Amino acid sequence: MAHQQFDIAIVGGGPVGMALALALCEYDYSILLLEARELPEKVDDPRPLALSYGSHLILHRLGIWENLIQPTPITTIHISNRSHFGHTVLTPKDAGVSALGFVVNYHNLYHTMGRTMRDAGVSYRTNALVTTIHTDQQHVSITYRQDEAEKKIQAKLLVLADGGKLAEQIDGVRYHVHDYQHTAIVTNIKTESIQPETAFERFTLNGPLALLPSGEKYAVVWTMPTEKAKQILTLDDQLFLSQLHEQFGERLGNFIQAGKRTSFPLILKYASTIVGHRSVMIGNAAQTLHPVAGQGFNLGLRDAWELASEISRIPYGAPNEPGSSKMLAAYSKRRQHDKFIGRTFTDSLIKLFTADLPLLQTCGGIGLAILDCLPPAKRLVARQMIFGSRK
Ligand SMILES: Cc1cc2nc3c(=O)[nH]c(=O)nc-3n(C[C@H](O)[C@H](O)[C@H](O)COP(=O)(O)OP(=O)(O)OC[C@H]3O[C@@H](n4cnc5c(N)ncnc54)[C@H](O)[C@@H]3O)c2cc1C
Repeated sequence: MAHQQFDIAIVGGGPVGMALALALCEYDYSILLLEARELPEKVDDPRPLALSYGSHLILHRLGIWENLIQPTPITTIHISNRSHFGHTVLTPKDAGVSALGFVVNYHNLYHTMGRTMRDAGVSYRTNALVTTIHTDQQHVSITYRQDEAEKKIQAKLLVLADGGKLAEQIDGVRYHVHDYQHTAIVTNIKTESIQPETAFERFTLNGPLALLPSGEKYAVVWTMPTEKAKQILTLDDQLFLSQLHEQFGERLGNFIQAGKRTSFPLILKYASTIVGHRSVMIGNAAQTLHPVAGQGFNLGLRDAWELASEISRIPYGAPNEPGSSKMLAAYSKRRQHDKFIGRTFTDSLIKLFTADLPLLQTCGGIGLAILDCLPPAKRLVARQMIFGSRK
């Protein structure tokens, strides 16, 4: 039986895969998105996502932004190092924008993107678990399971946006993996007082702790060694809040209420190459970063946006069609610098601020204090976090 043919198959309908599908739907290519999970409405993932101002512009262009449920703006980021001198405050003025970013929930974003895709008529199959991929110079063959049946399709270009499970089936692709042996505990809390639109990033020897404004509450991403996280997860709410408060300090008064806690293991994982025969990796499939400074999705969204832009340059039927080695090489080159900087930036922050070396800790604190006094350096850091890097 002949397999169904597509120009582009996207495997993984997380927020990055969906963003790509939406960015491509205005062109004449036939596209299919395969997602292992159920319909987006059924997905519940409580992690908060700090979206940069740059991501907000992309989501606006994709028709997603106006349908999101009340994203909370971030107009101040307060960065400090627990028990050490020195802090930095970033504001929109530092970066020349109207807001530094916005906080949304993963599942709210996911549901909204699912609805927007449906309205845009994107070809989208859920409950479709891809099991095997085979790539060669001409095309890619994909096998997936849906409704207890095995199905096959072929495409000219495979985009892996599956978070990094399938890429090692592609010739020449290997992952570099560093297990931080840290876990992120995610919850939301109510505090005695709030500082509207202010996000806090506090480095501690155990790992960074972020409090992100989320309506009248704060979304918490508290990272620490996995063994410690296991203990913290068993505490009752009162003890949990007092330990969190002790790490965070007095800036928001007492911590008075905690929501459900969820945990995520933390690794740095990135592909040795982001392209293979007729295939390309984007989002977490290309790089999975530590959540410090909220860079992962923002970087992945730029992957999707830039890939769509590379594909859109190709006249239909041209020899450098989607999936050709020329097109893939151009995309890979275009993304190299931003990915390298994003990965190095987050990994270096973790290494610097969690090293149990007093001298290094003092240098970190001094660095934050100096940064606070140097507007050009602040502008560089703020714009890197907001727009990523271009050579
Ligand atoms: C605690 C925490 C906090 C974070 N905070 C931030 C933040 O503030 N800002 C930020 O920018 N980033 C943040 N991140 C990172 C962000 O969550 C990820 O970068 C982002 O979710 C990546 O999106 P993705 O679509 O590439 O991958 P995923 O979200 O992992 O989606 C992958 C999709 O592929 C599907 N899939 C997997 N295997 C298959 C298969 N075989 N067949 C079909 N489908 C498949 C999955 O079901 C899933 O839907 C955070 C991460 C964590 C853990």
